[in-house]
Amino acid sequence: MAGIYLHVPFCSQRCTYCDFYFVTTRKDHGPFVQALTTEIAHYAREYADLEPIETIYLGGGTPSLLSLDDLNQILQTLHDHFDTSAVQETTLELNPEDADLSYLRGLRDLGIDRLSIGVQSFFQDDLSWMNRSHTADEADAIVPLVREAGFERFTVDLIFGLPEQPADRWAANLERAVALDVPHLSTYGLTIEEKTVLGKQVRRGLVSPADDEEMAERYQFTMDYLREHGYEHYEISSFAQPDRRALHNQRYWEHANYIGFGPSAHSFWWKSLPSPLAVRWSNVRNLKHYEALLQQHQVPLDHREPLSYDLLADEYIMLRLRTADGIDLDTLDERYGADLLVEKVDALAELERRGLITFRNSRVRLTDEGKHVCDGVTAQLLLDPL
Ligand code: SF4
Repeated sequence: MAGIYLHVPFCSQRCTYCDFYFVTTRKDHGPFVQALTTEIAHYAREYADLEPIETIYLGGGTPSLLSLDDLNQILQTLHDHFDTSAVQETTLELNPEDADLSYLRGLRDLGIDRLSIGVQSFFQDDLSWMNRSHTADEADAIVPLVREAGFERFTVDLIFGLPEQPADRWAANLERAVALDVPHLSTYGLTIEEKTVLGKQVRRGLVSPADDEEMAERYQFTMDYLREHGYEHYEISSFAQPDRRALHNQRYWEHANYIGFGPSAHSFWWKSLPSPLAVRWSNVRNLKHYEALLQQHQVPLDHREPLSYDLLADEYIMLRLRTADGIDLDTLDERYGADLLVEKVDALAELERRGLITFRNSRVRLTDEGKHVCDGVTAQLLLDPL
């Protein structure tokens, strides 16, 4: 079973912290939809017969800027070219200001059964500081609205660690989400990416990022508070009510096959010949370039690389350590030929002694303490670190 990711590269304005690929100037989405459907049809010739599709994810950018007609055309092309009869989850990322009841009901009619809602904060000060395009009133209104439209599965994104965001405001954001009985939450600590507006502000000394201690406090509070309220902390940034884990994201953490369509999208696929080996490829990031290549019936490929077993083993360690299910040492050995017990026996013992991991039933999992330093723990377990 495979996953499909569709990257929709449009946003109404630039959030200060964001380094995803998107454009803010395009009003006519027709050429993009045309290019995307051409790309889907192209890859279907090679991949459609290999595996049925299990999950579909429309991300961005802001897919909710697309009209229902555009979304229908994209999804219909997928259904026409791939076996989508066993799809278990179709997610669309949505910004609160884009949705009214009729649009949301239209999404459901198209078969979209899960939403990822970019709330980020329920407070206007935070939203203005991030240059989000929605208001606090729209953030408040969106959850009841998606429920009214019939969505039972949705996630809300929230960001902590904004400079000078008081602790009680972050706590109030979580309280609000819990009071709304949100079935899934993704909480992210603000990261300062170099090429963003925020990155420039920090370099010029206009903004002072929250310090490590403050970030750690917010994260610990998040873990404690959400677990107390019945959420399973199943990945570093992801919290779910029972049976509400995100299926599509789990594919990435399991090293399962997926194809990404659209500018900047990435794909991953296991090849069975000449020997089992995976390949990763990515598309060009520039929208005009992407469209031009597809108009000329060329693949919009930017980079393609076969992945060695060593690289795959390290990736598996890195991805699985982020999850509550942890690294399954038997899978690591059988699938990638890597025996962590032999190669990292000292590191495992030391990490366990320091309370950063647990090691039971052939599984290595991060403790809460370890989650705070996930990257550092990962670095100690990689077989072939850079
Ligand atoms: S809406 Fe999302 S993708 Fe667009 S700029 Fe803001 S954070 Fe980035």
